[in-house]
Amino acid sequence: MLDRFLDKTEFESYEDFMENFHVNVPENFNFAYDVVDAWAEREPDKPALLWTNDKGEKIQFSFADIKRESDKTASFFQSLGIGKGDMVMLILKRHYQFWFSIIALHKLGATVIPATHLLTKKDIIYRCRMAGIKAIVASGDPVVTSHINDALPECPSLHALISTGPVIPEGWYDFNKEIEKAKPFVRPENPNANDDVSLLYFTSGTTGEPKMVAHDFTYPLGHIITASFWHNLHEDSLHLTLADTGWGKAVWGKLYGQWIAGANVFVYDFEKFEPVDVLHMIHNYGITSFCAPPTVFRFLIREDLSKFDLSTLKYCTIAGEALNPSVYEEWLKLTGIKLMEGFGQTETTLTIATYPWLEPKPGSMGKKGPEYEIDLVTPDGRQAEDGEHGEIIIHTDGHRPLGLFKEYLHDPELTLKAHHDGIYQTGDVAWRDEDGYYWFVGRKDDVIKSSGYRIGPFEVESALMTHPAVVECAITGVPDEIRGQVVKATIVLAPDYRQRAVDDKEALIKEIQNHVKRTTAPYKYPRVVEFVDELPKTISGKIRRVEIRDKK
Ligand code: ATP
Ligand code: MG
Repeated sequence: MLDRFLDKTEFESYEDFMENFHVNVPENFNFAYDVVDAWAEREPDKPALLWTNDKGEKIQFSFADIKRESDKTASFFQSLGIGKGDMVMLILKRHYQFWFSIIALHKLGATVIPATHLLTKKDIIYRCRMAGIKAIVASGDPVVTSHINDALPECPSLHALISTGPVIPEGWYDFNKEIEKAKPFVRPENPNANDDVSLLYFTSGTTGEPKMVAHDFTYPLGHIITASFWHNLHEDSLHLTLADTGWGKAVWGKLYGQWIAGANVFVYDFEKFEPVDVLHMIHNYGITSFCAPPTVFRFLIREDLSKFDLSTLKYCTIAGEALNPSVYEEWLKLTGIKLMEGFGQTETTLTIATYPWLEPKPGSMGKKGPEYEIDLVTPDGRQAEDGEHGEIIIHTDGHRPLGLFKEYLHDPELTLKAHHDGIYQTGDVAWRDEDGYYWFVGRKDDVIKSSGYRIGPFEVESALMTHPAVVECAITGVPDEIRGQVVKATIVLAPDYRQRAVDDKEALIKEIQNHVKRTTAPYKYPRVVEFVDELPKTISGKIRRVEIRDKK
């Protein structure tokens, strides 16, 4: 399907890509009709979604299957009065009904709000009131459905509740039964314009309350780069991105770009997940391409990989957090695969990455891509020189680049704070080397100011990670009368070191501090060190430094 949107679909080099990559955005683009149904017509049997679960069930859906099921779902939604511009929340974990529903809602020109099953009554009320949600399609588990039922009296806009079972509370629709009864689907005349809002995603909540990010109907085309030129997917690829459907990362890795590329999306629908499960899935299903946040790889490199046949796996990508070079090196040693890093946000598509033509520099995110005009700006407003820290910004003068969000819903103040005067501010700090590679320093709020120095947490964390005692760690700044802030390390120890932390804690701390002083500039070493059993994380697996900072 790439040929429908790109003049040139293959590139010889990074320079060729930067110069000649161009997406032709059709008028009134609709991913459901222009990609899913188009595949169903062109190659009906083409594999689209390989769905598996923890009970050993497995279903291979073709594009014709997805077209048929999404048509039935759309017709059912129409019968409930859902149409253009209506807000519908999906709390569907990794059930295959998520794919039927999101495609169905695109067909109707409605706005999809994917959300996590961890929402409580209060979160549901907040979201329903914020967005004026008309219907919720939810996983029929007792916790999810009872939170929604409890929220119902305070959500006046909610008209319809739909469950995929097994629990179908009184007054709810049974998704699976209803779509079978649905009348043949009649496509609405003008479901959408390019500028209409198709998708609302909540950010990960790493720094505070999740923000509601609104994307328009052209957003899927922004993910052509994500799937074809970062995940490096082709028509015979079987791709797994680890992400709950409630987070933006799900459409980065489980839907848009992958289906434009014609790849088969692998899904594992589970109740409880351990990183080692990934190895079983690669071994059992022959996954060829895998994307996950660094935390997953930090645990995978501690497994005995020789017990698994990973020979089908050819390409691995990481994003969401910075990748410590030691993890890169270890994964390369164990599998022969170079981890290709990417950087982006819920608010954007992929903005900086190690594209297939680039040799990775361990610890660097890679280079800028052709779609966003990236720059680094110093705290005093200058363009950063090579080697100098600056906030990553995107120039938007006169036009909103493909893939950049439209706004934070109903929050013009926050939108204006992030996007003003032709500049979108990512809130992330990086530096660029003389080859044009970008190196992540930290989020603006996480950068530590100590005795006049600016210290990025990532560099110190990466130094710590090279000590065998450290499995995971987070660097934060703690207030200090003399220095302003001092560097504090919060560390999860490897099992072999836990007893030492009890018997000889001070000596272990000294050893780790000295290790950092030898590995990076000595002034960056953590003056405060604490050991913990685990780090506070978002459910998408990101370290919440803000929580460590706030802990007294
Ligand atoms: P919130 O905005 O609610 O605090 P969040 O920023 O974590 O949460 P996301 O949009 O999921 O929500 O994540 C985007 C952020 O993840 C980026 O702004 C950046 O801080 C971080 N990130 C993503 N990729 C990388 C990477 N390769 N290296 C370092 N950081 C990354
Ligand atoms: Mg953010």
